[in-house]
Amino acid sequence: MAEGIVLVLNAGSSSVKFRIAEESGTALYEGAISGIGSKPAFKLKDGAGKTIPLDLAPERMDEHQDALDLLLGIAAEFLPGRQILAAGHRVVHGGLDFAAPVIADAAVLDRLDAFVPLAPLHQPHNLAAIRALARLRPDLPQVACFDTAFHIGQDRIARLFGLPRALIDEGVFRYGFHGLSYQAIAARMPAVMGPGADGKVIVAHLGNGCSMCAMDGRRSVATTMGFTALDGLVMGTRSGAIDPGVVLYLLEQKGYTPARIADLLYRESGLLGVSGLSNDMRDLLASDAPAAAEAVALFVHRILREIGSLMMVLGGLDALVFTAGIGENAAPVRARVIEGLGFLGARLDGAANAAGGPRLTAPDSRIAAFVIPTDEEAVIVSETLRLLS
Ligand code: AMP
Repeated sequence: MAEGIVLVLNAGSSSVKFRIAEESGTALYEGAISGIGSKPAFKLKDGAGKTIPLDLAPERMDEHQDALDLLLGIAAEFLPGRQILAAGHRVVHGGLDFAAPVIADAAVLDRLDAFVPLAPLHQPHNLAAIRALARLRPDLPQVACFDTAFHIGQDRIARLFGLPRALIDEGVFRYGFHGLSYQAIAARMPAVMGPGADGKVIVAHLGNGCSMCAMDGRRSVATTMGFTALDGLVMGTRSGAIDPGVVLYLLEQKGYTPARIADLLYRESGLLGVSGLSNDMRDLLASDAPAAAEAVALFVHRILREIGSLMMVLGGLDALVFTAGIGENAAPVRARVIEGLGFLGARLDGAANAAGGPRLTAPDSRIAAFVIPTDEEAVIVSETLRLLS
């Protein structure tokens, strides 16, 4: 009998990103259905990344259930005879309750509803997709994999904000995100880095969203994202950490509504906001506009400042790992970060960096640096199958 397949789903407010994967995690097809609730569009690529033209965008797609129905149809058409074993979902928030993936039955979904106010842009849509798929395929096992779970072992002090205790007690503290990516990297580190993997390592996930995680013994001890995925580094369109007084200024002096401020901080800031040009690092590196150069300089500056902070939590630094779109591809950004650590004895190997690593530093470098590609979807597949076995 043909091997089974696993659906990996990442549902947003108006889109569902998906991978149809082998049991090994390898992608057979990947894509996205966007424009749910407005004008639907469907993107599909095969496992080699080749776009497959599709002529099936329906006129209307009112909700996630319609999108998932379409996706099940695609899976049946392109992979006849292959049974879908399970669906693994990226769920942004598991609070402190969920330290590991879990079968997303009705009782678990009710508990996960409690975290909707903590992640209103993602959590309700993640959960809506699980419920929609349960209506379409009640017998299909579904697993929720959390972006917060990797950080759950952090010390309480690493999590606290200096806020009144009543707010802390209701859960206003740092959770951290990108946990599925950090889990993927932590699993790959020994093969790339040898025994150094278990030392003091900072992993920089630099994609559209950006964060860093300080790991000791491949466990998270601190991270730059906090209560939301808005904190920390400058990102594609998100501001990263800002003085909270800026939010008060926007509210009180400029009359911004909360929705307008959310738009500004999540969608109009970061590389896009500072450059006024693009949220894409490729565009900024290719541009000779002074504002593009300033955006890149700020991006690197914030990374270096946060490395300083995370190093103090770790009590040293043995290695730095770059991952995600910018981390894996933008050699000039990596070079500037490693050169910024020169006073600590980091020595860039320029040729290795230009070639994409995996090792980016010279043999005598006191801090080693590496590129390790991330694969969050593969983690979701393996965790989903592990739970079901
Ligand atoms: P991700 O969220 O991991 O898919 O990363 C997406 C981002 O990676 C894009 O918005 C770009 O800023 C960046 N990126 C992708 N490829 C390159 C490249 N070759 N050089 C520089 N940046 C890149």
